[in-house]
Amino acid sequence: MTHLAAEARYEAMPYRRSGRSGLKLPAVSLGLWHNFGHDRSLDGQRTILRRAFDLGVTHFDLANNYGPPPGSAEENFGRVFAQDFRPYRDEILVSTKAGYLMWEGPYGEWGSRKHVVGSLDRSLARLGLDHVDVFYHHRPDPDTPVEETMGALDHVVRSGKALYVGISNYSAEQTREAARVLRELGTPLLIHQPSYSMFNRWVEDGLLDVLGEEGVGSIAFSPLAQGVLTDRYLGGVPEGSRAAGSSPFLNAGNLDEATLARVRALDGVAKRRGQTLAQMAIAWVLRNVTSALVGASSVGQLEDNVAAVSNLSFDEAELAEIERHL
Ligand code: NDP
Repeated sequence: MTHLAAEARYEAMPYRRSGRSGLKLPAVSLGLWHNFGHDRSLDGQRTILRRAFDLGVTHFDLANNYGPPPGSAEENFGRVFAQDFRPYRDEILVSTKAGYLMWEGPYGEWGSRKHVVGSLDRSLARLGLDHVDVFYHHRPDPDTPVEETMGALDHVVRSGKALYVGISNYSAEQTREAARVLRELGTPLLIHQPSYSMFNRWVEDGLLDVLGEEGVGSIAFSPLAQGVLTDRYLGGVPEGSRAAGSSPFLNAGNLDEATLARVRALDGVAKRRGQTLAQMAIAWVLRNVTSALVGASSVGQLEDNVAAVSNLSFDEAELAEIERHL
């Protein structure tokens, strides 16, 4: 049966404007990079997605290659969408991306018009949608002129396949250039999606300034450092956790004693603020970005993360103490 969404779904979540656009994003968005492939039960995925929407999470972030296998997160989201969310299409933002390796041959990745437009067509088929709300170029391409890639983004908007466009993993300078080209084409850059967390602050070194000047919004991916900035690993590496799996991006090697000591200290600060470390990590990035893009492998994690919005402010002493542990 179709999901009947909670009536109270808009009561707690703040919605924040993306740059100088008309579009508002939930303070907490949900990403489907992990936990939504064919390796996980569809029922479990459905429970997380339904609960997210009931809590005011109106924004779901995907990419062509999310899975495993690549493409399966879009397929699974499409299945849940068809069953549960179709009546709510106009209350939901679906984002996807192209740029990382998706199929064989010279057009299966990077930033050519051939890759970018073809990839979105395949994503729409997997999602079962006629358009996405935000379409991103996933990573800068050193070999393709930015005019070609941004021209492809402009094209997908004009052809009705996406409402807005974004970029991800672009440096400050690359972002300034992309924003200029898109402005000239008449399709403003809505948003940048960089990595950003208490343990990864590269955006503070120029990118945030460019986004402010250009009027572009921001959504921070991996704000929990993939789970490190939570209590997930304080008692060891649990079975089934991301660090226990085969991810090249997070493994036990990232969890050395020095890191865990910092996490424990930050956990203490969070407790004194009356929140969990996950919630404090989300609140901390939200000082500087439009939305925090979290992952969740359970409803409990999702609820913990969304509840961050009940305490987003920091006083100077708290910020200074956090700074000492970074
Ligand atoms: P997070 O930093 O939020 O890490 C999510 C993981 O942390 C979960 O899978 C879970 O790990 C653990 N976790 C989450 N909440 C809690 C909690 N409350 N308590 C304890 N542990 C918790 O983000 P992700 O790295 O998953 O990235 C989020 C999204 O960002 C992606 O889904 C994707 O949409 C986007 N992204 C974009 C990239 C890009 O290049 N543009 C790159 C990477 C991500 P466990 O699975 O062990 O339970």
